[in-house]
Amino acid sequence: MQAGPMAGLVAGSGGGAVVMVRVIMLSPPGAGKGTHSRWLTLQTGAAHISSGDLLREEVARGSDLGRQVASYTDRGDLVPDELIFRILAPAVVTAARNTGGYVLDGFPRTMPQALRAAQFGADLALTSNAVIYLTAPEDELVSRLLDRAQRDGRADDTLGVIRHRLAVFARETAPLIDYYRGRGILLELSTNRAEADVQADLLNQLQARGLMSPRATELGPDHSGQAETTLRNS
Ligand code: AMP
Repeated sequence: MQAGPMAGLVAGSGGGAVVMVRVIMLSPPGAGKGTHSRWLTLQTGAAHISSGDLLREEVARGSDLGRQVASYTDRGDLVPDELIFRILAPAVVTAARNTGGYVLDGFPRTMPQALRAAQFGADLALTSNAVIYLTAPEDELVSRLLDRAQRDGRADDTLGVIRHRLAVFARETAPLIDYYRGRGILLELSTNRAEADVQADLLNQLQARGLMSPRATELGPDHSGQAETTLRNS
């Protein structure tokens, strides 16, 4: 997936046109994709689309689809691609229509998903312009997820399921790293440091690619004039 000729141009805060971010957050569980997706959303006004949140909402609704989803998520297995597309595609289209951009948090997670997303993006002129790969040592990932278990009580944040999710990442999702690197759109960042450092690095890398205006960085989230658009509930 690379930025196509139809990449969304919007008015930058400095008066010039900047490319509206259409990014994919790619990272193992616990590396911070939720945190940094929410933050990037606030910075840019792009819609935050979290596949995990959308799936958990479907489960909470208690629908037939939700029950099917839970049979995978509770074990830490990936939900089949067909279900993922059924749930996610409308959210991405709405996001692009409403904001011109998106931060895809947790999708794609398999090569078939990535290839289908690339086709979908090309067909609808919604091609991603960067893939943000967040890393942290495995011990750190496990310890963050166990902390989150205390806080949020997620069904899949038990030690056994966490280990399984990490193995699923290594087997199913890690091949996407080279796929996107080969397309020249991979940005790699360690999150094993202060959150503010990660954010500064991320902004620098996005600016270097012309995906964010420097002025937005100077002003910070309180002055960006952009409201968070989250499609978890749509
Ligand atoms: P997350 O909130 O991103 O950690 O996702 C929680 C769970 O939702 C994962 O462990 C998977 O079971 C499922 N899931 C989220 N995104 C996807 C996806 N793109 N493909 C398949 N399963 C997914």
